[in-house]
Order: sequence, then structure tokens, then C-alpha cells
Amino acid sequence: MNEPQGTASSHNCPICGVGLPAFTRYPRYVCQTCAARVTDVAGRPLAFGNIDIAVGCVGAYTDTGEVYDAQVCYVAGQRCSVQEARFGGIVIQTLDAPGRGPSLAS
Ligand SMILES: [Zn+2]
Repeated sequence: MNEPQGTASSHNCPICGVGLPAFTRYPRYVCQTCAARVTDVAGRPLAFGNIDIAVGCVGAYTDTGEVYDAQVCYVAGQRCSVQEARFGGIVIQTLDAPGRGPSLAS
């Protein structure tokens, strides 16, 4: 059975699929849990804007505090972008459309 498509009343995290409020401004944003699992391309943990050493959209490695100034990061192997949210925090969104390409989870 097919669910109705195109409704803006709900959103699912593109990484883990948890239900979230929909924001048309951020159509691919990930949930807080996944945002906390962000890494660089090599899998080193990062934090963006939510720890003392990282302000605004600037990221840092959580292990060394080294600044990470790229705005592309990875969550569960999916390439994501980082941007400042208009309400002050940061928003992480997947760069690749959900449901396309091979799925790593089963
Ligand atoms: Zn998630």
C-alpha cells in the first residue's frame, strides 16, 4: 500500500528514520541523535557549534579540539552538509537523496 506523498506534516530522519517535525527550509535534516554522531570522512568524531570550542558553524574534533573548518561531514557513512540554523544552532542535512543508492543498513 502506498502512503500519500508530499505532505509536509512530518519528516523522517534520513539516517535513522525517526519521526521529526517537518521544516520546508531543511528538507533533509537529521535528528539530534544522528547529529551527535557526526564524523569526518575518516570517521573521527566532530562537534559543530554545540561545544565551547565550536561556535556557530565551526566544527572541531571532539578528541583533540582541533578545528574542523569544512562544512561537509559524515553521519553513518552518508555525506552531510552543516549550516547555521536561523534559530542559532546548527543544522545537519544529508547531501544525497534518501532512498537512492545502496543501503548500508538492513
Ligand atoms: Zn536520526
